[in-house]
Amino acid sequence: MVKPKAKYRKNVAGILPRPLLRQIEHIQRLAREAGFFLHDRELLHCRKCGLLEDVDNMGQLITYNSGHTISDTGLRFMKGKGHKYLCPACGAITCEDVE
Ligand SMILES: [Zn+2]
Repeated sequence: MVKPKAKYRKNVAGILPRPLLRQIEHIQRLAREAGFFLHDRELLHCRKCGLLEDVDNMGQLITYNSGHTISDTGLRFMKGKGHKYLCPACGAITCEDVE
């Protein structure tokens, strides 16, 4: 097996150079902090109280109550371990649908 050239060994999985990957991670962190949904997981739904996540036309993550007008409650699910999240409205644990 032939060893890759030095500049390619710095790439992540042979695709992205590490500096570019760090810039992408930085931009993703800033976008997430600004409230944008990055589509890196499924939208959540609390089966106990009906709180739903959705994305508005600007790409912002919102939550609203099922059966009501879609208007952001300002509440956000809190990340737990693995694919589990805590509902900010009722405290129930909900899981991301993972295939
Ligand atoms: Zn709930």
